[in-house]
Amino acid sequence: FTPVTPQIRETSFIEKMKKTNRNIVVFYGSQTGTAEEFANRLAKDAQRYGMKGMAADPEEYDLSELSRLKEIPNSMTVFCMATYGEGDPTDNAQEFYDWMQGTDDDLEGVNFAVFGLGNKTYEHFNATGKYTDKRLAELGGKRVFDLGLGDDDINLEEDFISWKEQFWPAVCEFFGVEATGEDSSIRQFELVVHNDINMNQVYNSQLREKTRNSEIKPFDSKNPFLATVTGNRKLNKGGNRHLMHIEFDITDSKISFILYCINNTYTILLFYYRNIILYFYIKYNFFFFVGGKLSLFLSWVLDSERNILAILEDLPSLNPPIDHLCELLPRLQARYYSIASSSKVYPTSIHICAVVIEYTTKTERVFKGVATNWLKNKEVTDNGHKLTIPMYVRRSQFRLPFKPSNPIIMIGPGTGIAPFMGFIRERAWQKKQGKEAGETILYFGCRHKNEDFLYQQELEEFERAGVLTQLNVAFSRDQEHKIYVQHLLKKNKEQLWKLIHSNNAHIYVCGDARNMARDVHTAFYEIAEEVGSLTHTQAVDYFKKLMTKGRYSQDVWS
Ligand code: FAD
Ligand code: NAP
Repeated sequence: FTPVTPQIRETSFIEKMKKTNRNIVVFYGSQTGTAEEFANRLAKDAQRYGMKGMAADPEEYDLSELSRLKEIPNSMTVFCMATYGEGDPTDNAQEFYDWMQGTDDDLEGVNFAVFGLGNKTYEHFNATGKYTDKRLAELGGKRVFDLGLGDDDINLEEDFISWKEQFWPAVCEFFGVEATGEDSSIRQFELVVHNDINMNQVYNSQLREKTRNSEIKPFDSKNPFLATVTGNRKLNKGGNRHLMHIEFDITDSKISFILYCINNTYTILLFYYRNIILYFYIKYNFFFFVGGKLSLFLSWVLDSERNILAILEDLPSLNPPIDHLCELLPRLQARYYSIASSSKVYPTSIHICAVVIEYTTKTERVFKGVATNWLKNKEVTDNGHKLTIPMYVRRSQFRLPFKPSNPIIMIGPGTGIAPFMGFIRERAWQKKQGKEAGETILYFGCRHKNEDFLYQQELEEFERAGVLTQLNVAFSRDQEHKIYVQHLLKKNKEQLWKLIHSNNAHIYVCGDARNMARDVHTAFYEIAEEVGSLTHTQAVDYFKKLMTKGRYSQDVWS
């Protein structure tokens, strides 16, 4: 596909807007691509209102120019800002975030609006969106429309659409313009059939030679390091799932990793992406096929988990042009994995522990997770060639306490065990160095002892060697009733409260965000109430303070 208009590289978004006659710039703080995709849609929508928009990555432009936006008549900026981890901005918005915190620029005359992308299961719901909205107003910016707060736990797409439906009329009123009704789908690409191309120069899903492990550092999502796969083994002894331990060699990368590893699977083109499907709904009149109601459409797509391929299969008459389809598909996004190794013990390699996603949807289609199925088949060598995967490491606050003598309480059922394998190995290393390691307690949970007790042998050896001072395992399906990690926590409540309240223990929770992390949190409240005699409000406050001090850390995902 050839871009219709040549791409202009410019670090000044103001100059770029002036050169290309744009008056709306939509910045996105995006980690997994959703905010970027929303920004693209808003930028395209502008056309319908006689305006011209562009979506922009804040990392690629100089945001300290924001006060100059007023040089462009009838201009505004929109920020689609995702919140990540414990209330943090995304990597690509970090610099902008720091700038907002430190600047005293006068933004008078700069029109703005903010849509936040967050998830209510996390404590700091939409913290970045809220901060951006508040800070731009404090600096004198003019809020054109109210802050939107999208919740991925319920339906982010619906939240965005509802916000957008009110946002554009507010913009029209503000600038005194009316909708032109013009189709907003200006094509960026066109399909051209080439017969005379040197195939050696065609991008064929592998990173091109010149970008491979270049000298450009640090490695990040746009410039990943190609790590060699040095090990890939199945961890579970039984059951029909595939849990795997994979090792990568990072020699020569000079990556000093802390906790997150990422793999960037550039290879697969079509994948589940509900937002494009929604766009299809509007564009190709799916409406008539599904009874004329958006809610019916959403349930037809979302509840039955129809991806774009499934929709095209089930509604063959849609037949969209392939160039339009490709234009709508966003880049495949990186996936995150907690690092299951310690840089002290293995300075040149990174390990991860992941479960292969595979299940049957309501339409009887087998859904296969993109990255995990790709990784599953990554052998150490392929016909003698070493296999590589593009990756980078993301900084994290999820790390061992500074003082090795501090006790640690680790709670990680299922693949949540991953970072703790690194922690425990590091504690063993600290012990070897003659440092006095504090109590090292693990709460692990799995379905069956004989099936998915991950790293059983290693963990039992660590316990025998006294590195793990306590190994507690909850087998949920080996008896009639469920036994989960939080039940074991409650059993040991006196010991735990003493460690937390009197011995400065650090608590770590890793794995499922939706249920487990919340239930474990509740168990700790109950322990504080039952043993520490706190009221519920006091208990909530107590653990909030521990979080602020970095003594209650979570590495969770849903
Ligand atoms: P995708 O192609 O991305 O498909 C996943 C989709 O399937 C999602 O929409 C999900 O909601 C849905 N889904 C998954 N299971 C089911 C089910 N049973 N029923 C219905 N829908 C389902 N994963 C690990 O395995 N190990 C880790 O250590 C780890 N650490 C992480 C750390 C962080 C900070 C984050 C954000 C995520 C972490 N993950 C980890 C999850 C990981 O990043 C990927 O999301 C996961 O491996 C799936 O990727 P995929 O490409 O195979 O699946
Ligand atoms: P898992 O093997 O499914 O679960 C580990 C253990 O946790 C099991 O014994 C399970 O018990 C138990 N458990 C279930 N609910 C719990 C709760 N509320 N509190 C405490 N323990 C609970 O673990 P996994 O395969 O590593 O997956 C962990 C979670 O992350 C799952 O919810 C999974 O859907 C999610 N996940 C999502 C993605 C993604 O693509 N977004 C990728 C990987 C994992 P029972 O099963 O017997 O109830």
